[in-house]
Amino acid sequence: MDVAVVGAGVIGLTSALRLAEAGLRPLVIERGDPGREASWAAAGILGAQSESHGAGPFFELCLRSRALYGELAGHLLDRTGIDVGYQRCGVLHLAHDDDRAAVLREVHAWQVGRGLRSELLEQVPGHPRARLGVFMPDDGQVDTRALLEALRSAVVSRGAQILRARVVRVVHEDGRLAAVETESQSIPTGLCVVAAGAWSSAVEGANVHGVHPVKGQMIAYAPPPVPWKSVVYAGKGYAVPRKNGPLLVGATQEEAGFDKSTTAEGLAALRAIAATLSDDLALATPSDQWAGLRPATADGLPIIGFSARSVIAATGHYRNGILLAPATAEAVVDLVAGRPRQDLRDFDPGRFAPDD
Ligand SMILES: Cc1cc2nc3c(=O)[nH]c(=O)nc-3n(C[C@H](O)[C@H](O)[C@H](O)COP(=O)(O)OP(=O)(O)OC[C@H]3O[C@@H](n4cnc5c(N)ncnc54)[C@H](O)[C@@H]3O)c2cc1C
Repeated sequence: MDVAVVGAGVIGLTSALRLAEAGLRPLVIERGDPGREASWAAAGILGAQSESHGAGPFFELCLRSRALYGELAGHLLDRTGIDVGYQRCGVLHLAHDDDRAAVLREVHAWQVGRGLRSELLEQVPGHPRARLGVFMPDDGQVDTRALLEALRSAVVSRGAQILRARVVRVVHEDGRLAAVETESQSIPTGLCVVAAGAWSSAVEGANVHGVHPVKGQMIAYAPPPVPWKSVVYAGKGYAVPRKNGPLLVGATQEEAGFDKSTTAEGLAALRAIAATLSDDLALATPSDQWAGLRPATADGLPIIGFSARSVIAATGHYRNGILLAPATAEAVVDLVAGRPRQDLRDFDPGRFAPDD
């Protein structure tokens, strides 16, 4: 083993896969079942344009990651036989009032100015209550649970090990990384990637500060009550139609510490989102409800870079970790090689380090 990866969520597993393909031998250390935390709970929207807040390095990272998805999905299918449900199905944003319509017109204008595809719809077929729509045809979705299973399988087939243990700390000796310590053993390593999601700041000695959990609850409708093919955003949420599967509606954003229970309030909020999206959804009864903890940071940006000697932090991806996994894994491999191709300065782990 020559690199320890802490956490087997989408970030840790994608990083481990790419590190293995770059010739390293990763050991993934996961305290629970692989891929069962935030990555399992996610809607799987690949919303580089639809989740964007404007131009800049974060937007470029999102676009880069979206562009890498087709290759990753094909690679996983070849390697594991698992179809991860990658679809460039497009994302439709609906405005139901003039204020939202004005915002959508602005988003459309700057994205077209940036050379991206976006369609302004003065009338939106199938959505009679909408004042306006903007369709982003190059955004898409992936089936997160299939993705996590495929990543786990691909990582193992590449010869990497997944050890079930909780990492307590990383240990430096004489200024060099010496080991990662779990609750029961010390594992010597010269390189470590901390991809422990919402728990990343709890790994002692890794110097990963500023990550906190934001709970997200979701519901699903099976069979789907509407025949949509694209992801649809309206009001405070969205709907994601899985191919030959349920329709997902999400998501709440709650500061609830590390509690990931589902609640009646969450269900009510999600049904209100569903009612905003469509009258047919307002009448339907959800068949499932679940929750997960997004790894959030104070500035909404991920943390990607060296946080301590020979320790790379890859975390804090908040609402976009599924989208950002391929570009983050690429950045991790580049950091190991000493040649980052993306501008990672905005994601520097040092920005949250406490003053001495
Ligand atoms: C409801 C909801 C909807 C979402 N929708 C989308 C979406 O549509 N598109 C999108 O791109 N993103 C979405 N996200 C965000 C996305 O899920 C996250 O950003 C992403 O999954 C984070 O991945 P991760 O690998 O960092 O964390 P996780 O998936 O949480 O994985 C971290 C892993 O580390 C393990 N771990 C923690 N501490 C330790 C330790 N000390 N030792 C060993 N293992 C440890 C955990 O057990 C866990 O398995 C959504 C999130 C939620 C909650």
